[in-house]
Formats: sequence, structure tokens, C-alpha cells
Amino acid sequence: MKIALIAHDSKKNEMVNFVIAYKHIFEKHDIYATGTTGSRIMMESKVTVNRLKSGPLGGDQQIGSMVASNEIDLVIFLRDPLVAQPHEPDITALLRLCDVQCIPLATNIATAELLIKSMERADFAWRDIVKEKYKYVAPTGTEG
Ligand code: PGA
Repeated sequence: MKIALIAHDSKKNEMVNFVIAYKHIFEKHDIYATGTTGSRIMMESKVTVNRLKSGPLGGDQQIGSMVASNEIDLVIFLRDPLVAQPHEPDITALLRLCDVQCIPLATNIATAELLIKSMERADFAWRDIVKEKYKYVAPTGTEG
């Protein structure tokens, strides 16, 4: 499965501790993360991460693009609900796309725990079926 991890600054410690606590699960999956979140996770947990751009520089949109193509199976986005973010439109767009594609999404640590435990129980097997059924096929070039 492909898991996307994003944490706002005040939530980065929580995210790192979460990945360390569930390292045995995260190691079995492909992890994608926004820039700074990804660096912290890699340095402190040693879990391999596919790092995208930093959130404010387009990382949320990169993950959004993967969600739109139905490539991401779970998004854990530890948001700071008390601080306004310069890239709020990107955040809203990502959350919206998760709802469009029916992608499991946790925006706080309590939900993240439930989802990661459910992933450990193989409750996400349905994603393999959905992914195959709604596979994104890139348009071919226009001809003639
Ligand atoms: P960051 O981005 O991991 O690069 O800090 C997260 C965000 O603010 O969306």
C-alpha cells in the first residue's frame, strides 16, 4: 500500500513518534511525505520515505495529484487547527480529493492510530480491488 504522511510544524514530533511506534507496519509499505515531514521521519525513524516538495512549495499538491490518480491508499495529515497556513488552498484541495476518491484520511493522531491498526489487520485489501478497477490511464497524445 502507498501511505502519504504530512504534518504541520507543531505536529511533526507527533508524526515522528507515531512512525517510530508503528515502524513495523510502515516498513512494509511505500511511504510518501512532504519535504520536511519526510526528512524528519527518515532521520529519526530510519523508515524509507519518498520525499516530495515541502508542503508550502507544492508538496500537498503533489500528493493530491497521486490521490486524484487513485494511487494513494491512506493519507495521514496531522494538521494544526490553530495556526493559519499560507498554503491553505492546497490543503483544502487535498482533503477534498480524498473525499472525491474515497481515500481513508486521518487528520489527527487518534484517527491515525485506528487506521494504521486497521491496515495491520489487512482491512485495506479492498483498496487493491478499487485501484485496479479505477486505474488512471494517462491520455495519449492527440493524433491527426
Ligand atoms: P512539510 O510540509 O512537511 O514540508 O513541512 C507540510 C505542510 O505544511 O503541508
